[in-house]
Amino acid sequence: MRTILERPKAITRKQVIADHRATETLVAPFEELAQRSHYLIRKPMPAFESNGQRYTLPRYLFLGPKGGGDVIRIGIFATLHGDEPEGALALTRLVAALEKNPDLAQGYALFIYPVCNPTGFQDNTRHSRAGVDLNREFWIGSPHPEVQALETEVWTHAFHGIVTLHSDDTSHGLYGYVNGAVLSEHLLEPALRAAEIYLPRNRRRTIDGFPARRGVIYSSYDGVLRSPAGLNQPPFEITLETPQRAPLHLQVEAFAAALQTILLEYRYLMAVAQNI
Ligand SMILES: [Zn+2]
Repeated sequence: MRTILERPKAITRKQVIADHRATETLVAPFEELAQRSHYLIRKPMPAFESNGQRYTLPRYLFLGPKGGGDVIRIGIFATLHGDEPEGALALTRLVAALEKNPDLAQGYALFIYPVCNPTGFQDNTRHSRAGVDLNREFWIGSPHPEVQALETEVWTHAFHGIVTLHSDDTSHGLYGYVNGAVLSEHLLEPALRAAEIYLPRNRRRTIDGFPARRGVIYSSYDGVLRSPAGLNQPPFEITLETPQRAPLHLQVEAFAAALQTILLEYRYLMAVAQNI
């Protein structure tokens, strides 16, 4: 995986927070790439207001080269907790890698939401400016505009897969949650293995208060960003967590490696399923 990635810049988390106080700065690499890319399209979502200021949730669409079958729609979400910009940075890394090797995204339409909590990001807080943990608000009739906008995205695009990126300052290693389709765990395991090139896995029996096996948690909090309950064919749902105290560039690499592995593995599993 290393060979296809550019050499990471050694930057610290503190620098990122200082440099990227505005969402616009954090997503600048997407904007820049979208101007010259054949694959990346900017699709900003409608604005909302908070304390008299206008905010938008940035959204980008990476349309890979045509594949054999139906287009596979994946939603990738980051910085739902405003003090976790690591995921947004990792997504700039991912699109740069895909731009260089578009075949990695063959057959995919990737819907990328790098900053799901722009007010929290601006304030460097986990919660949004309304004082809410947005990742406990999904599908409970939340009045918060960020949640409503993201619910609409999840509902209307009917994603085949949902991947959410988080960073946990209480974990010494990588781990993840699986929900939705059964094959989620068959995607998370190789994704964690690919990410382990950069950072260790959290192998504790209990992580974040949940029982865990080899860094995989099979349950979740209520109200997390996922598909609505009761779908006939739920998407695969994976939440990736990096250890937030680890060097930032290693978290970025770990996320990018995990995401690329999920794309490869899912396409492979779909191809196998079609041949059964
Ligand atoms: Zn988080």
